[in-house]
Amino acid sequence: MRSVREAGAAVTLRGVSKWFIGRNDQTHALSSVDLDVAAGEFVSVIGPSGCGKSTLLRVVGGLVPYESGTVDVAGTTPAQARRTKQLSFTPQTPALLPWRTVRRNVRLLRELNSRRAAGESLSESEAVALLETVGLGDFLDSFPNELSGGMQQRVSLVRGFVLGAPVMLMDEPFSALDEITRNEMRYLLLDLWARTSKTVIFVTHSIPEAVILADRVLVMARRPGRVVWTESIELPRPREISIQDDPQYLEHVRRVRNALHEVSA
Ligand code: ADP
Repeated sequence: MRSVREAGAAVTLRGVSKWFIGRNDQTHALSSVDLDVAAGEFVSVIGPSGCGKSTLLRVVGGLVPYESGTVDVAGTTPAQARRTKQLSFTPQTPALLPWRTVRRNVRLLRELNSRRAAGESLSESEAVALLETVGLGDFLDSFPNELSGGMQQRVSLVRGFVLGAPVMLMDEPFSALDEITRNEMRYLLLDLWARTSKTVIFVTHSIPEAVILADRVLVMARRPGRVVWTESIELPRPREISIQDDPQYLEHVRRVRNALHEVSA
């Protein structure tokens, strides 16, 4: 299948700080975060629990306010980017409508977005082609409860790409899957991404996952939440499973692991 999408849009953060103020405590969830994500770039974010990965995604996604700094998504504010469907969020568990078939779950978002993003959504046949690509061709008329967890997450992923939003935010979308399915999903995601040229920010706890997927891996530290290490991944694309035997891949994994070890110590 040919490439069907335009290039994604860039994300820029400058000096972004975020506090959570409780009755008895205050958490400096993000401290002066600077970040540039280029159009069409795939960036993975990794770090110990509580270092602010989800908060970073939620700030970019316009889901939480922040105290200082600036955030630009697709040339506008996060809130405006959300309103104009420049952003999509892929959660940890697929939120499919149980009473709709696979085909109609994917089509639902097209219906909801047809007014604002008509020019950006994939056509019906492109959406079906993507579902076939991820092995769901025989399940187009199945309901979510007839599918395994991995299949449901594949529907959810395709739905995110069909939505047409140029910036995709993903918060550990594969964390509920078994390791074999999870590894397959990584390459499926890369295939979908290569066909659509989206800008992706992907939060994960898995070092292999971060490295396999990304152009850049950001390592965050906690208290305060900040980016302490950037690993540029020099592996060629398209990436296939054999890349996990490549010495350069192993070297990237080693360097990210060392950076994580330092911030977790
Ligand atoms: P991560 O995704 O890296 O595990 P989070 O972004 O969820 O980290 O959280 C960063 C810090 O902010 C943690 O200390 C967490 O307890 C705190 N935090 C996150 N969300 C809230 C909230 N809604 N209210 C108070 N504190 C929060």
